[in-house]
Amino acid sequence: MLRMTLPSERPMISTGHGSCRVAIIGGGFAGASLARQLAIAEDWDDQQITVFEPRASLGAGLAYDTADPALRLNVEASRMRAIPGEPDAFVRWLELSGTKEADPGSQVGSGSIYARRSDFGRFMAERMQPPLDRGIVRHVQERVEKITRSGPRWRVTGNRGTEIVADIVVVATSHPKPKAPGMIAQALNGHPRFITDPSRTDLLAHISPDERVFVLGAGLTAFDVVASLRSRGHTGRIVAFSRYGLLPQPQVGGALAPTGSFVNPSATSAPGLLRRVRLAIAEAERSGLPWQSVFDALRQQGQTIWQALPYQEQARFLRHLRRRFETHRYRMPPQVADLIAQNMRNGSLIARAGRICRVERAPDAISIDLIVKPDGVVERQSFEWVVVATGPDHTAAIGSQPYLAELDRQGILKADEHGLGIACDRESRAIGLDGHPTEGLFIAGPLARGTFGELTGVPEIAAQCEQIARRIIETVNGCRPGCRPMMHHS
Ligand SMILES: Cc1cc2nc3c(=O)[nH]c(=O)nc-3n(C[C@H](O)[C@H](O)[C@H](O)COP(=O)(O)OP(=O)(O)OC[C@H]3O[C@@H](n4cnc5c(N)ncnc54)[C@H](O)[C@@H]3O)c2cc1C
Repeated sequence: MLRMTLPSERPMISTGHGSCRVAIIGGGFAGASLARQLAIAEDWDDQQITVFEPRASLGAGLAYDTADPALRLNVEASRMRAIPGEPDAFVRWLELSGTKEADPGSQVGSGSIYARRSDFGRFMAERMQPPLDRGIVRHVQERVEKITRSGPRWRVTGNRGTEIVADIVVVATSHPKPKAPGMIAQALNGHPRFITDPSRTDLLAHISPDERVFVLGAGLTAFDVVASLRSRGHTGRIVAFSRYGLLPQPQVGGALAPTGSFVNPSATSAPGLLRRVRLAIAEAERSGLPWQSVFDALRQQGQTIWQALPYQEQARFLRHLRRRFETHRYRMPPQVADLIAQNMRNGSLIARAGRICRVERAPDAISIDLIVKPDGVVERQSFEWVVVATGPDHTAAIGSQPYLAELDRQGILKADEHGLGIACDRESRAIGLDGHPTEGLFIAGPLARGTFGELTGVPEIAAQCEQIARRIIETVNGCRPGCRPMMHHS
């Protein structure tokens, strides 16, 4: 049996609750994927990988921990390459588990499968079961409140008192809650018909079929809210409101090969990149291919493209191109796109862009004045409900988590310069206030986007976690990168 060896047999510090090699904070897709990859890459003693996750299961997180059958994956099942080395694992699972058969609505005309998000959550939970059963991975169902240095190690404290001392800590608490714009938040704070967390589908269930709903946001999260309401028989008027009125584009059916090359050499400016994308789209269309295939290539090459752009050009991209890019990159599954198109045609769903200039609580409705683009006309509208669906507020990634805010205060980590998440190097090690990587502290998942660029979808996160797992194994074995892990047989 293979066992890992410490460079110098460091005594395990005994606290009330024990110690472990790796503590992962957050057991959504990123945290679970990392725990699983660590567990299968080496032979660990019991409970050496601890995942703190308040949810009941590991692997689902915000995106896939839902019981709502109306919420679907926004990419084709074959693209949900969650398990490195097993690209078709999810598609096979859908077949073998009978899930595909039980969900005929997952198949669209072209034969493509857009499965339910809850089913992907179930798939991940099943994949997590063996390392949990073997006792290698321990799931502590608590929220981490505090992390402090304990000599060369870390002391991690959960909200129900569990305390673990770990050699290595991985931050994987990606998605903060959405944030309502100031005026609406101030006016409606505490209002019983103001839903600030759209993932609470139990709250959406209180909306009666004919009630009017104001949805703040017009992106994928907002249209998920529409799909969820309509599937519950809601027929009332919905207004989806955003500042710019850019709506997410639909997926196209069928298996598309990514088209276009944006690397070798990569663009070195944001306008240069835009020019190349336009040329690639024109070329694809001449060959009868949809623009979506070009955005699939952009996604595939996204990390190389991002890393080749100088800092100023990355900032320029975020300032001028990000919104348009995202509406083409993050697309609606065909089932949701069809529903949205139909609702817009029959006028039950209206997309509006502009600014909110007045919000008033009336006894039986919420009255909102909108300055509507493009004419600047003021519209007064009344709604029974307001739902915040602006998507996770990543600018609040550190501030919304007391444990991260404290690490930030101590200079152990810091926000990345673009405000996309937490600063880290290309080995995913957190960068401290002094500009140096903090040993033993890693950032997994979309919080590391400032460094990597494209790091939102499942395949990219799985690949990042594979790299982090490799690096952790080298670290706990006392190796520097590139040397072979020290192991012996026992
Ligand atoms: C609504 C939605 C739909 C998506 N759909 C797709 C898709 O179809 N295809 C695709 O490829 N990608 C999709 N994505 C993108 C993607 O898969 C996610 O970005 C991915 O879920 C990121 O996982 P994560 O574990 O990093 O973050 P999260 O899902 O945010 O997980 C973080 C976990 O940390 C826990 N946590 C938070 N604070 C603490 C704390 N203090 N202590 C302990 N635990 C804590 C939370 O409970 C949560 O479970 C979607 C994303 C979202 C938000």
